[in-house]
Amino acid sequence: MTKQNSLQTTLIHAPRQAPQYIETIQPPLFRASTIIFKTTAHLFDRHWTNPYDYSYGTHGTPTTFTLGDNIARIEGGNYCLLAPSGLSAINLVNSTFLSSGHEVWVADNIYGPNLEHLKNLQDRYGIHVKVYNPIDANSFQPTEKTKLIWLEAAGSVTLEFPDLKNLVKKAQQANVLTALDNTWGAGLAFNAFDFSDEHLSVDITVHALTKYPSGGGDILMGSVVTRDQLLHHKLYRMHAIQGISVSGDDTAQIQRSLAHMPLRYEQQSNSAIAVLDWLKQQSQFCQVLHPSDANSAGHLFWQQVCESGKSAGLVSVIFKPEYDLAAIRKFCDSLNLFKLGFSWGGPVSLVMLYDLKQMRELENTHLQQGLLVRFCIGLEDPNDLIQDIQNALKQLE
Ligand SMILES: *Cc1c(COP(=O)(O)O)cnc(C)c1O
Repeated sequence: MTKQNSLQTTLIHAPRQAPQYIETIQPPLFRASTIIFKTTAHLFDRHWTNPYDYSYGTHGTPTTFTLGDNIARIEGGNYCLLAPSGLSAINLVNSTFLSSGHEVWVADNIYGPNLEHLKNLQDRYGIHVKVYNPIDANSFQPTEKTKLIWLEAAGSVTLEFPDLKNLVKKAQQANVLTALDNTWGAGLAFNAFDFSDEHLSVDITVHALTKYPSGGGDILMGSVVTRDQLLHHKLYRMHAIQGISVSGDDTAQIQRSLAHMPLRYEQQSNSAIAVLDWLKQQSQFCQVLHPSDANSAGHLFWQQVCESGKSAGLVSVIFKPEYDLAAIRKFCDSLNLFKLGFSWGGPVSLVMLYDLKQMRELENTHLQQGLLVRFCIGLEDPNDLIQDIQNALKQLE
């Protein structure tokens, strides 16, 4: 007779079986560093290009593949990799495709930390960063050294919608990879892999899942979506080499929020329009920025690409020059429902102030002089939000 295992061992090796006859609304959650191979044959026969040959936590679990497949589906791509933040997903693209001597082009209104990352690569590895004007495709002048162009539609502070059609066409002609930061459109305002009447496609999308997919303002994550398998495999190799991975719990939370993401996006898009319409009638601003507004730079490009008429819930205003920094700070501090903070896509409306003079390399003739305030519209009643802005503006009289 074999001796019974001790309690200590039994606690670890107690018999368990994966449930087979139970169905739940949310998929089961896998937390894993180790993934157990049934036999040595499973260990030796697996191949890294088969994503469902589970091997180790950093390379994915059913939980991460469930979310990744859904993000790819939403954005119109085929493959998805997850990263611990949107910025980490951006870095994955840069470190996979840029080598010493390469040139990378970025829009003047690019997400700031991406530019900072690229400048760091420039200083250390001799990768050249060039800046183009997103509403003037002629300002993008690729050379044979150009490897990658970053696109952003719309820019997340000044909200210019780029000439996406011509920029992508020009990049394709020059054999330059196109990477779109798709956080604003979230795969819902337009399909980055099939847009405009010409069915154009970018090569890669990056999405800060921190924003709309999370929807709670409490989880950080990013994704990289592609249609092309070869590109995906290059990214997947780098993802593995760099040990980029996400927590099963965070992944399951975002998966849970996806079910209502299109509803939240639509609501915030509509609320932002309501707030925009009111802001346009106020005398304190010299410019109100939103791609659906005919006076905003890139409005026609937005019409070409966003046939849904949808936009993320972001609106920016430029205060008239007589309002100095002290006044803008007083305005922001006087808001009650709008909280002062970075990010967007959550239930709570947010506000942030920016000094454009310190943010741009090119001359921006389409932007007035003044301090900029960005409103990120949450899920509150837009009439309450308007009231809140009105109260704060009264403090400036
Ligand atoms: C927030 C954001 C990111 C970065 O996402 P994190 O998860 O905060 O790192 C990237 N691009 C855009 C446009 C964003 O708004």
